[in-house]
This record gives sequence, structure tokens and C-alpha cells, in this order.
Amino acid sequence: MSELMRAARLHAVGKEMVVEYVERPHATGTDVVVAVKGCGMVPNLANVLANWETWYPQMPLPPRPAIFGLDPVGVVHEVGEGVVNVKPGDRVYVNPGRSCGACHACADGRQQHCGYWTLNGYFGYNANSLKMFERYPHGGFCEYMRAPQSALVKLPDNLEFRQATRLGYLGTSYAAVKKLAPLAGKTLIINGATGTLGVGVTLLALALGAARIFAVARGLPLLERLQALAPGRIEIFSNLHGGTASWVKSRTRGIGADSMIDTLGAVASLDSLKDAMYGVRRGGRIVNIGGTAGELGVDVKWWMDEQMELIGSVWFTVSEAIELADLLRSGTVDISVLQPKSWPLDEINEAISGVASGDGGFTSYLVEI
Ligand SMILES: [Zn+2]
Repeated sequence: MSELMRAARLHAVGKEMVVEYVERPHATGTDVVVAVKGCGMVPNLANVLANWETWYPQMPLPPRPAIFGLDPVGVVHEVGEGVVNVKPGDRVYVNPGRSCGACHACADGRQQHCGYWTLNGYFGYNANSLKMFERYPHGGFCEYMRAPQSALVKLPDNLEFRQATRLGYLGTSYAAVKKLAPLAGKTLIINGATGTLGVGVTLLALALGAARIFAVARGLPLLERLQALAPGRIEIFSNLHGGTASWVKSRTRGIGADSMIDTLGAVASLDSLKDAMYGVRRGGRIVNIGGTAGELGVDVKWWMDEQMELIGSVWFTVSEAIELADLLRSGTVDISVLQPKSWPLDEINEAISGVASGDGGFTSYLVEI
């Protein structure tokens, strides 16, 4: 006999989500069912959903009616007969990254390089993602979701569910910071430092030993709040007041910073990225994680002559999320400055439209279930 659960579903792009009863999933094989307790809300979700299929026609959304929700946390409720090392009652984050599990990239722990790479409950990267959505039709905006055991990250006891719904953004920041390792004693430009990814990058870079952080954003009030985290290590700059590259060079005896992470989102101008990038020193490394779109005119002579590395980094692996969970357990990374702001599932549409109401990257938006 089928049992029902509550889920928020989007029936058509441009419409509001509808909270309704749908069939509750069951666990089979190596899958589990997680009783969802909360799910992070992507800032700007409504705008993204409304424009996605026009902006990126090659990247499918899940077929409608669809259950979105990128960053679910909860308690393992049921395990399939082939599940080992996970048991009912485990507190988990469900990494939405899905991949085939059977190719060279997957076997090598590089799920993002798989031809089936998909962010479940959000969007896919090519037509293969439709297979992933069919197998895993639940994002986190519902009471129970099915997920592969390989997607689970066990949560440390000292990390409450509300804070854990930030793991997607923190994991993305962590994967970017790792690409700059070792960061100890080095200098780093964070472009878009006060946004959801930027604050995460700042917290992780501080924890992992960055000597000086050049935090760049538009508004000074949030920049000042960021600087207060470590006044001796963070310098702040509003790019409304001039060029980032010349400011960074003026602070580094004309040399530039060792590296940069760009976190700006889909609708940001590329001029800001390009300006900041020229503040990186010879042999420096630039990592892009924010989703900014468009053609970036890069002088390839500069790229070669100065031996620059430009790196794209999308999401993170489960292994990176396990490392991050341990950094949070041990207190090496402190996210107590992040303030959760939540809505119940019944108010999902208020949640989607309410994400501009907080303090930039200092607020974590979520739906509690
Ligand atoms: Zn694969």
C-alpha cells in the first residue's frame, strides 16, 4: 500500500510552488530514504528557475512537476537491502551531486567530470541528467527523499540541522580553497566576499592559514562586518570606489596577491572579475565558483607570459564534504557567525521571495520540514 508525504512541487516555470501530497519513496538496493528536517534555499531561486532554460538550454531542469531543493539534511529513515555503513537514525547531509558511479572519473573520485554529473533538486549539466532525475526525483523540499548511500555525509553532533543546510555553499567554497592549497602564509583576493559563497570562502581561508585576505564587494557595511572576523588579516575594498587590481597592487608593493577566488553570481558583470583578476601576481591561480556567465576576453599572452592558472570549480565531492564536516566537528572552521533564517514548508513561496531580506552571506536561508 502506498503512503503519502507532503512535498512542494513546481508544476510550471513562472508559477508558484504547490505543497501537496505525493507518494512517499521507499529504499531499495543501495539507496536510502532520508526523513528531511531542513533544506537550504538557493538565494535568487525564483529568478534562476524563471530564466534557466533560456540562459542555458543545454542544461535541463528536472521534468515538472518537480521537487526542487539543493541542500537537504535529515535523518536516515530506511535503508535498501544493499546498504552498508549507514543505518536508520544517522544524521546526514545529502550531497545533491549525482553521477553514474561506473566510469573512469567516478572511480577516480572526480564525480564532477562524469558525463552524468547532475545537481539533484536543481539542474543537470546535459541530457544525461534526465536519467538521474528519473532515478532520484526528490530534491529536499519534501518530507522524505530517496538518495544513493554514496551521497551521504554524516553530520557531527555539534552541527545543528539549520547550520548544516549551508554545507552546499560551504563545500563549494572549501573545494575552491583546496585548489589553492597550501594557503598557509599566502595572500588571497576574494571577489564577492560578502555573498553566500564569499563569506564561506573567508571563513575557510582564515581557518586554513591565509596570511592576508583582500575582501572585495560593493557595500561597505557588510565588508566591515567581514573584516571584524579578523581585523589583522582581512583588508576590505568597495569596488564601487575604484579598480580592484590597482588597490591590491598598492597593498602588495606592486606585486599582486598569490591567488583569487571569484564568487560572483549569474547576473554579475564580468568587468568586476576581469579587473580583480589582474590583481593576481605572476604565477598566480584564479578559481571561479560563482556562476558568472558570458565570454571573458582574456589576453592569452598575459596568461602565458605570467604563467597564470585559471581554474573552474563546480560543487565538491563527498570526500571533500566529509573533510569539511570534520573541520566543523573539531572547531577548526567556525561558522557561528552564520545566522539561519527559516520558513516552514507551507511557506515555501515566501521563502523563495524572502531571500533578499537578510545580511548577505551572513544569513543562511532554509526551509524547515
Ligand atoms: Zn561516472
